[in-house]
Amino acid sequence: MTPETARKLIALGAGVAFEPGAGLAAGFLDAAYQDVGAQPADDTRLGQADLVLCVQPPSNDRLARLKSGASLIGMLHPQADAERAGLIQSRGLQAFPLERLPRTTRAQSMDVLSSQAGMAGYKATLIAAQRAPRFFPMLTTAAGTIRPSKVLVVGAGVAGLQAIATARRLGAQVEGFDVRPETREQIESLGGKFLDLGVSAVGEGGYARPLTDEERAEQQRRLGEHLRTVDVVICTAAVPGRPAPKIVSTAMARGMKPGSVIVDLAAETGGNCEATQPGEVVDLDGVLIDGPLNLASQGAVHASEMYARNVYNFVALFLKDGAVTFDWDDELLAKTRWVAA
Ligand code: NAD
Repeated sequence: MTPETARKLIALGAGVAFEPGAGLAAGFLDAAYQDVGAQPADDTRLGQADLVLCVQPPSNDRLARLKSGASLIGMLHPQADAERAGLIQSRGLQAFPLERLPRTTRAQSMDVLSSQAGMAGYKATLIAAQRAPRFFPMLTTAAGTIRPSKVLVVGAGVAGLQAIATARRLGAQVEGFDVRPETREQIESLGGKFLDLGVSAVGEGGYARPLTDEERAEQQRRLGEHLRTVDVVICTAAVPGRPAPKIVSTAMARGMKPGSVIVDLAAETGGNCEATQPGEVVDLDGVLIDGPLNLASQGAVHASEMYARNVYNFVALFLKDGAVTFDWDDELLAKTRWVAA
């Protein structure tokens, strides 16, 4: 919740309380929340809340203090922690893990995965530009002409497309590839070139499916050769609910030119590069592999503004005149709600 969305929640008839200091790291002072009518509240008030809004899941200790029947909204990943899942169930909480929201047109204004991936893709390109020992743009100088950097973006989902757009704005020559064929047009519309590795793997819900061993071998063969010609790689490939696909082997990374940089945004789920160490920078004889974590938090102001608006738009589906009413015929509510299997 930002002061802006606190004000809008109050306008929907809610009484709004906030954890003191919660917005500080994103530049939202307690006073700004109070100015719009929200009240600071410590943990002793947790048990009074009907709706609890969060970014990451609350600690299990806090979950245990929530009122039975309270609704919990955020990136909750209930299946990632058996105790958390058990508490949600035993406390009778209505859990809405926003990462489960259907990726439909109507849900776009609530899509936290997209808003946070946009910031992550942007920052990944800036990290690459910062680490690269070269310019991104072409320059004609008195000391000669500098050729533009060649940037390859692996995976052209929301983060990948933002990485491509950002690298283009910095003047690099950009290529991208994905296993979903429709990304060709999206990459080209941003001024990038589609790198065709001859593999198409569309799965359910418009997402990618895992590659077969043969498809993976073919992708790696073609990619390995191509990597020798690029200066920067930004990895963003993911398959929902699975560890990140391994696309760049250590041998392929070692085959790149010294001074090349790989930023592996997929580090969070294991990385697209075999050599990625999540949260660390690995130097493979002059090829740097950076596996940053929680990149959206590096753009905390805008990431929080977008996240808070996503949450507000979701809450506005069921909060009217201060009262909570769930319409389970609404697929956004029904499909986002988590019920233990
Ligand atoms: P994601 O984070 O799950 O994956 C990132 C990208 O990696 C995807 O484009 C995927 O195809 C690609 N990928 C997976 N395996 C790969 C491999 N082996 N090699 C190369 N690329 C690989 O995806 P995302 O960014 O969350 O979004 C993906 C889908 O969701 C897209 O179809 C997107 O258009 C859709 N979407 C739709 C809406 C909407 O409102 N309709 C909103 C957001 C996203």
